[in-house]
This record gives sequence, C-alpha cells and structure tokens, in this order.
Amino acid sequence: MKADSGVQRQLLDLAEADAELSRVEHKRRTLPELAEIEAAEKVLRERKDALVSVQMQHSDLDREVTRQEREIESVRARGDKDRKLMASGSVAAKQLTELEHELATLGRRQTALEDDLLDLMERREALELDAQRTSAEVDKAEKELADAVARRDQAFADLDTTQARRDADRAALLPRFPEDLLKLYERVRAQKNIGAALLQSRRCGACRLELDRNTVAEIKAAPANEVLTCDNCDAILVRTSESGL
Ligand SMILES: [Zn+2]
Repeated sequence: MKADSGVQRQLLDLAEADAELSRVEHKRRTLPELAEIEAAEKVLRERKDALVSVQMQHSDLDREVTRQEREIESVRARGDKDRKLMASGSVAAKQLTELEHELATLGRRQTALEDDLLDLMERREALELDAQRTSAEVDKAEKELADAVARRDQAFADLDTTQARRDADRAALLPRFPEDLLKLYERVRAQKNIGAALLQSRRCGACRLELDRNTVAEIKAAPANEVLTCDNCDAILVRTSESGL
C-alpha cells in the first residue's frame, strides 16, 4: 500500500487522539468514585434499615405505654367507685369488709402497674436516643454519598470535555486519509488497540519491540510512500527523522 509520507505522519495525530479517547473510556469505567458510591449506598441502606427497626420498636413501646396508662386509669376508677360506695354509708358491714379487701388489692395492682409503666417509659426514652443517633448516622451517610456523586459527576464532566475535544480532532483528521489507509488503520486498531505508531530509534512505538537489522535494512530500502507495518504487532510504522534509519 502506498500513501504520501506527510499523510502517514498525520496518522500519528490520529493515533494520539484515539489513545486519549481510549484512556477516557477506561477512566470512565474505573473511576474510584464508582466503587465509593456503591459502598456509600450500601452503608446508607443499612443505616436506614436500622433506623426503621428502631422506629418500629419505639412505636411498639408507645402503644404499650398507652395500654398501661389506660389499665392504671381503670384500676384507679374502680378504687374511686369503691371509696364512694363506702363513704355513702349505705353499705352493710359484710360488704364493707369486702370493699376494704378489694381496695387493698387494687392498690397493690396499681403500684405494680405504675412500676411497669416507669420501666416502659425508660426503655422508650433509651430508644428515642437510639433513634436520634441512628438518624444522625443516616444523615452522615447521605452526605458522604452526595459528596461521592458530586465528585463522580465532576470527573465525568471533565472526561466529557476531553472526549469532545478529541472527537473533534478525530473528525477533522479523518478526511485527510485515503480510504484504504484508514481501513487498514481501523482494522489494526480494532484488533490491537493501536493502529499506527512512530518508528522511533528502530523501535516500534506501539509494541516497543526493537527491529532486527534485516528489517531495518528493508525499511531503509523501502520508498517513503510505502506503508509499512510492524511484524510483531501489525501497527502501521510511521517513519520520521526520529526513526534512526
Ligand atoms: Zn509493533
């Protein structure tokens, strides 16, 4: 294949643009923020689950406190009723003894219920503190996630800028190459990632292999417009004054 040596040299600009586009793609996939976001989302999910669990325990206790208060109220009402009856003077002596006995029982029951209520309220208070702490942890995890997302978006925006610039470089370069040369370049690039490289000090700029003397002699003998490729990696070898020929 033949191509003007000046045109061949412009393949190096195309290869440089393509190399940067590959780096952009690689960075986009391997950005550390992506793993960070995944980890932060996991932490946030766990803390939200923990908060829901604490809140459920708290509302269970709330219901228990209400039930206990109602129970105490009914015991107290029963005692009031008994005392009123005793004070009315219309109660026979036998019934009076029964009422006194019942009042004593109610009194003990009320004390026990009130002790339980105190215990419930203490547990509820502890859960409130727990909920506050867990809620603060959720806030913290949300902030960390938002921070990682913002850094990822900034990195993506920077990569977008580089990509747009390099896409434009590429689009401007493409019309300069004859079709067969471009096809060869694209085919090698699709297979080996690098389509063309500078032959620098007798070394292939793509695979870094140093050419043997026979190959160097062949290259020296080849006309300037001959399109040469690396025997090792197939990249188009572009000759310049740096080639060491
Ligand atoms: Zn090579």
